[in-house]
Amino acid sequence: MTQDLIKGLEAFKRDQYSDAGENLMPRLVKEGQSPKYFIISCIDSRSNPSTIFRTQPGSFFAHKAMGAIVRPYKQGTALSAALQFALNHNNVKQIIVLGHTNCGAIQALVENLDDPEISSFINVVKDALTKAQTCCNEHNKIIARTEQEVVLESVENLKNYPSVKQALQEKRVTISPWIFDMEEGNLLEHNTNSNEFEIISTNEPIKEDHKNHA
Ligand SMILES: [Zn+2]
Repeated sequence: MTQDLIKGLEAFKRDQYSDAGENLMPRLVKEGQSPKYFIISCIDSRSNPSTIFRTQPGSFFAHKAMGAIVRPYKQGTALSAALQFALNHNNVKQIIVLGHTNCGAIQALVENLDDPEISSFINVVKDALTKAQTCCNEHNKIIARTEQEVVLESVENLKNYPSVKQALQEKRVTISPWIFDMEEGNLLEHNTNSNEFEIISTNEPIKEDHKNHA
């Protein structure tokens, strides 16, 4: 049943524990890690940062939560401890909140899913839904807008985590509000000037010499 995972590991080992892969993993184990990024992403299996950004081992610390939601600060949570480790005991330069389109968690929030175990987690960003409802009427537009507002609210919550607050004051870190558009394969970032999420990936097509022989 787990053969696909084991086959994946074997391929990974061939790549990263070999001269062809410059023995990256043995080097990282020996020399230690120093990731530049801390990526907070959804648990969604299609929006996994290491897959979509095709990163090498040692590239980023990862934190996952439904909807990439960052709850208001509370001491001793998984996220606050991880941020403390990344910012105060490592040298992370950039925190990324990576939401994504077609997010089941956001859909659950908008549609008021009747499951207390889930709703008690996602309802913490209900303000984001309220904001989205003031600008849109159509259901799909409300969901898309809520995805964006949740990322922005998560970024605001992040700023109250002591390790983040301190790193921001000392200009050691920046925070990027991003959304992965799963349908188009684009990456969007919130632009503070336009107050819109705008595409930042180039997404250029592979150039091929298509000559018209007609
Ligand atoms: Zn999601």
